Amino acid sequence: MSLDLPTIGVLGLLLCTGIAVGFSLLLVVLRGQPVLRLWTASLWVLTLGVVLLGLRPWLPQVPAILGGNAAMAISSVLMLRGMALHLGQPMPLWRALGLVALFMAGIFLFLVPWPSLGVRLHVFSVFAVVINGWIGWLLLRHAPPAQRVSCRLAAAVFISEALVYGVRLFLPVDAGAGEDIMRSGSPMFLTYLAGVMLELARCFALVLLLLERLLVDLRRAARTDGLTGLLNRSAVLADGADQLQQVRRQQRPLAVLLLDVDHFKNINDRWGHVAGDHVLQHFTAVLERCARGHAHLLSRYGGEEFLLLLPGSGSADAARLAAAIRSALQQGPATLGSDPVAVTASIGLAMDDGHADLAGLIARADAALYRAKAEGRDRLVAAAEPA
Ligand code: GH3
Ligand code: MG
Ligand code: MG
Repeated sequence: MSLDLPTIGVLGLLLCTGIAVGFSLLLVVLRGQPVLRLWTASLWVLTLGVVLLGLRPWLPQVPAILGGNAAMAISSVLMLRGMALHLGQPMPLWRALGLVALFMAGIFLFLVPWPSLGVRLHVFSVFAVVINGWIGWLLLRHAPPAQRVSCRLAAAVFISEALVYGVRLFLPVDAGAGEDIMRSGSPMFLTYLAGVMLELARCFALVLLLLERLLVDLRRAARTDGLTGLLNRSAVLADGADQLQQVRRQQRPLAVLLLDVDHFKNINDRWGHVAGDHVLQHFTAVLERCARGHAHLLSRYGGEEFLLLLPGSGSADAARLAAAIRSALQQGPATLGSDPVAVTASIGLAMDDGHADLAGLIARADAALYRAKAEGRDRLVAAAEPA
């Protein structure tokens, strides 16, 4: 079996179409993903470009070549824009469109006034080096830490594409090729083959980028409380156990504050559930503000109960923080409409004794909180040190 350029062209077209169809189906499943929309558009426009260039012998030459190259350039810009969006980076569109304009001017000049296949291939190569290098650079420079693996893999693919086109700049075009790209010779043939392979690699790289992003989003959602944005119970139990081990290794203290909003049910009953939610958000903001400056893990432990772990804080430190929270609540009540709503909290404090696990430590803070409620609420009670 022999592989010639027209065969590679047909293979490339089938691959582009298959990938574009695959991404369209992905778009149906993962609705509402603007990045995926841009990438899918990019893949369809690329397919259009390959069709126009492939049908060149049967179409008027100039419009087919100009249209095919324009489609490929626009496809690259859509890919770049999608990547910038994926990485949360602004992308000045004028810069990319300026590059496309320069590229198209080059193609036009060496197609109409001074036709030269060799120079046109060079113009295309320079464009491909710049745009693929740009995408690779974006991926390496702005990869979010949790998505570094997929970003690095994708960067490797785009930079490989840039390298292939960089090498092509130095490859000769067959002397007898004239204006027929199909007779441009073996070295060129190899770069087309590499292009087809990299197209496939790019498809996997894009899917990996989407998958890792979804995984990160899902993990974050599974750890976060939807109303307050704080860590949820299972997340703080997992992270807190690690913190406890760490402070014990370092022979440092760890304080636990368990806070419960007083008579919260009355707020719900009087003002409604939505107002109750607002009060919980206000309470969260006060906790976050007061805990700033302390190493801490803050979580919504249950309905109107919050857990604050303070690695490195002694009991006096933790008691001071509890007092600051109570005073901040007193001075800055929640507001519902224009009405201030007084919010107080009962707080249980327990110190790590070096033996109990995190659940045992929280249970002691809970017992202290129970006493704070029994003794009249709006106060801090410290758990007795275990005998
Ligand atoms: P105490 O001072 O003894 O803690 O009394 P309390 O009313 O605060 O405690 P209780 O356990 O009787 O009631 C807690 C209420 O918190 C009951 C529940 O409906 C409400 N609650 C739990 N989660 C949410 C929430 O996400 N939003 C709102 N608005 N209310 C919630
Ligand atoms: Mg309560
Ligand atoms: Mg409660």
